[in-house]
Amino acid sequence: MRAIYPGSFDPVTNGHLDILGRAAKTFSEVIVAVLHNPSKSALFTVEERMAMLAAETARWPNVSVDSFSGLTAEYARKVGAAVIIRGLRAVSDFDSEFRIALTNRKLNPDVDSVFLMTTGEYLFLSSSGIKEIASFGGPVHGMVPDAVAVALAGKYASTSQSIEE
Ligand code: ADP
Repeated sequence: MRAIYPGSFDPVTNGHLDILGRAAKTFSEVIVAVLHNPSKSALFTVEERMAMLAAETARWPNVSVDSFSGLTAEYARKVGAAVIIRGLRAVSDFDSEFRIALTNRKLNPDVDSVFLMTTGEYLFLSSSGIKEIASFGGPVHGMVPDAVAVALAGKYASTSQSIEE
């Protein structure tokens, strides 16, 4: 069964990879789909986010990386996916995810949402939190893959350099 795992992944974290690894065991094919959302400002370009995801998911042969814009339900229809995977952290995720899942079902009744619970150590992990830590030069080791930590340091080094200039 083909599943999609949509999100911003700006950047991919160990929390995302934990969900993905478990999804890869459950579904025969998983497409990680990077949402291109021009109204949301991102640190990494869609291409950069896809490249980081491709490197980190190479270990799972049934996982591929794609990007899309517009409605997730439409994208699921286009690629013939039966399932949308989302990760759940705290109860606070539930309310908005429930709303999104019901909307997606209305837009595409052939697709169902499947929620995977985070692993305890990733409960407080989010891309935005990681960007905040990295922007102050704090340690993100263990929260993101090493290559992503390097990419974050590079982004913020070039940002502070351009402010100083
Ligand atoms: P979005 O911008 O659509 O929320 P994200 O890139 O932040 O996308 O996350 C994609 C999916 O991964 C969402 O379902 C989100 O709840 C889930 N997720 C993010 N961080 C974690 C984590 N630490 N543990 C489990 N799931 C997570």
